[in-house]
Amino acid sequence: MPGRLQHRTALITGAASGIGLESSLLFASEGANIILADVNLPGVQRTADLIKERFPNVKALPVRVDVGKEADIKDAVDLAVNEFGRLDVMFNNAGIMHPEDDTALNTEENIWDLTMTINVKGVWWGCKYAILAMRKNPVDEEKGLHTGGSIINTASFVAIMGAATPQLAYTASKGAVLAMTRELAMVHAREGIRLNSLCPGPLKTPLLMNFLNTAEKRDRRLVHLPMGRFGEAVELAKGALFLASDDSSYITGTDFKVDGGLTSSYVTPL
Ligand code: NAD
Repeated sequence: MPGRLQHRTALITGAASGIGLESSLLFASEGANIILADVNLPGVQRTADLIKERFPNVKALPVRVDVGKEADIKDAVDLAVNEFGRLDVMFNNAGIMHPEDDTALNTEENIWDLTMTINVKGVWWGCKYAILAMRKNPVDEEKGLHTGGSIINTASFVAIMGAATPQLAYTASKGAVLAMTRELAMVHAREGIRLNSLCPGPLKTPLLMNFLNTAEKRDRRLVHLPMGRFGEAVELAKGALFLASDDSSYITGTDFKVDGGLTSSYVTPL
């Protein structure tokens, strides 16, 4: 059985940890060659080693990328095209949730700006260079390769619902990701470039668990989760794979929620 991403090239940001790490492994298991991008170089080197060990037939190149720097993103996309001849999937997944991000009254401007640079500008630049590359993708009918591609931008459930435990810059940044993704999906729909947001619910990854470091903080949230548990990064990776592959060929512009029912809930089961 050919993999769902056979002959495809993917670039994944935040590939050292959490959703990005699990997506890298899953995409590789489906045959994709991957550029593993992260500000944490030893982290993506570890991801590359895991892929080499488990899926020796695919190529995975680790590269240090700060998504808050436009030139880094451009270089990573150029690397994908130079090494593999094309870019089919761009997963703009890296993001931060700063510990000093708080209410409107308590958040410092530098925290706001840093969050917006990484979470919003990083996604914008990721879309920009991916679109430029995807337009030029060579056609190979035999391998089922065409121009265009799939761009997936990681947003969050907090872009859809309010929380009385605020991280205002983070929430605003993820709202921007949803709006930007929808608009770009419309602009590029006739070029065969699909853009979707992936909206995770709260997950058991370092990003959230480093912050929810007491049982009290975790319980404050768990009561609102219909399934009574935090999500796993691999459950998000499966959503990302669906959006990356041709299985979602008629899906663009969506806020694709993988949240255990959180954004549909009012009263949750006891
Ligand atoms: P994680 O902390 O496990 O992984 C994030 C990765 O991004 C890390 O490897 C980190 O080094 C990298 N990164 C951070 N800043 C970067 C930068 N400037 N340039 C390049 N790489 C950078 O987090 P995760 O939970 O896997 O989060 C992935 C995405 O999912 C983020 O956009 C996050 O906002 C979003 N998200 C997470 C949750 C959750 O509960 N964990 C919920 C909703 C949305």
